[in-house]
Amino acid sequence: MTSRAAQQQEEARQLTARLETEGVRNIALTWVDNAGVARVKTVPAQRLADTAARGVGMSPVFDVFTSDDTITESDDLGGPDGDLRLFPDLDRVTVLAAQPGWAWAPADRYDQLGRPHPACQRQFARRMTERATAAGLEVRMGFETEWVVTRAPESHHPGTTDTFAPLDYPCAGPAYGMTRVVELSDYLRDVTEALTVQGVDVLQLHPEYAPGQFELTTAPADPVRAADDVVLVRETVRAVSARHGLRASFAPAVVAGQVGNGCHLHLGLYRDGRSLHRTPDAAHGLAPDADAFLAGILATLPALLAIGCPSPASYLRLQPSRWAGIYQCWGVENREAALRLITGAPDDPDGGHAEVKTFDAAANPYLAVGAVIAAGLHGIDSRAGLPEPQSGDPGILGVRERARRGIVRLPATLTEATDRLEKSAPLHEALGKVLHGAVLAVRRAEEAQFAESTDEEIAAATRWRW
Ligand code: GLU
Ligand code: MG
Repeated sequence: MTSRAAQQQEEARQLTARLETEGVRNIALTWVDNAGVARVKTVPAQRLADTAARGVGMSPVFDVFTSDDTITESDDLGGPDGDLRLFPDLDRVTVLAAQPGWAWAPADRYDQLGRPHPACQRQFARRMTERATAAGLEVRMGFETEWVVTRAPESHHPGTTDTFAPLDYPCAGPAYGMTRVVELSDYLRDVTEALTVQGVDVLQLHPEYAPGQFELTTAPADPVRAADDVVLVRETVRAVSARHGLRASFAPAVVAGQVGNGCHLHLGLYRDGRSLHRTPDAAHGLAPDADAFLAGILATLPALLAIGCPSPASYLRLQPSRWAGIYQCWGVENREAALRLITGAPDDPDGGHAEVKTFDAAANPYLAVGAVIAAGLHGIDSRAGLPEPQSGDPGILGVRERARRGIVRLPATLTEATDRLEKSAPLHEALGKVLHGAVLAVRRAEEAQFAESTDEEIAAATRWRW
């Protein structure tokens, strides 16, 4: 055993003793695949020390799973051969409040000789964070989680004809209305309480626009932590929902033709502990590196969509005038721009930041944070600069006026976004050949699976997949 493995084993032994006093019997080790699905292996609590030293086995074929569990293949991955080891991040072992007897930890994937798996998305996110650190930048991120809560036990079983039943919402009342909070007050309190005891710093919770829809935001954090947090938030909301006889859908398009669930990514940039969004005398307070970083994200957005909006269902959500950010432009506090600059209260140290509005919860959050950092760093390297900000809703402008302002629509199909990702040199370089190839293979397989489907069929097939 290497000295690192021995050290991990010892740390895990001490942790196990604590977990046992808290009644933990099982530990869920999750990682998120390229289709955005959180996959899991679980181990009994008393095996944690062994798992920390040697990992637990899992096939590399999951890198080419689609969201409906069909297996495709890439140049490097696919087929029944091979094994990987999942290693829990001991710093993130969390006792789950809504699943008594259970704890959770996000996992990193290595090969049997202990070498990082080239398609490990969580290590990709860490590598990109380290790149930013090497450039003297600190990036703090946080995801917004939106979900629709329903009473309906309706489920989709692949291979059967799933007839769409109208969803049965446990709360009525207007968008953003207090009625929904009153009707679901026990449920919403339990969601917040579970997250709080699990160490997730909840910023706010509110009813959203669509029927039965809510949104919860968490405090900015290191990018890998932000991605871990959104996985934990989602699984916690799911677990609390089940305890209340409810069901949560995080799908981009719960019902075709209606406002969907986004999973917007907020990011703030800092150097030497100081915000780069609060520079005196700079336009919008943006220091030159922050301007270039955001310009890099804006320029790369068409390719980033294949990461942040990875399902055919994502493109049902991406409609004009729904605050989903479908135009490749930025704006100050503009909720229809794909990239929204947020000014915040002047005395809030994290108040000044930006938001990528286009992304949804079908995205693998580790790929999302890593790819956005890669795009931002590319912006700095290539000395990119933000164009003029846009105000108002580009969706209500005529085609000519949009063209005059230089506003173009982001890819409107998964095929178009995947073509852009395929050709994106900075994202290819950042992801590396194996991960880039696996992501493309999964996207192409999902395009083909749904090529003949109606919008309603896509929504029904993907409603409960994330
Ligand atoms: N539900 C909207 C979306 O699809 C977002 C609403 C908001 O701005 O939070 O992204
Ligand atoms: Mg929202």
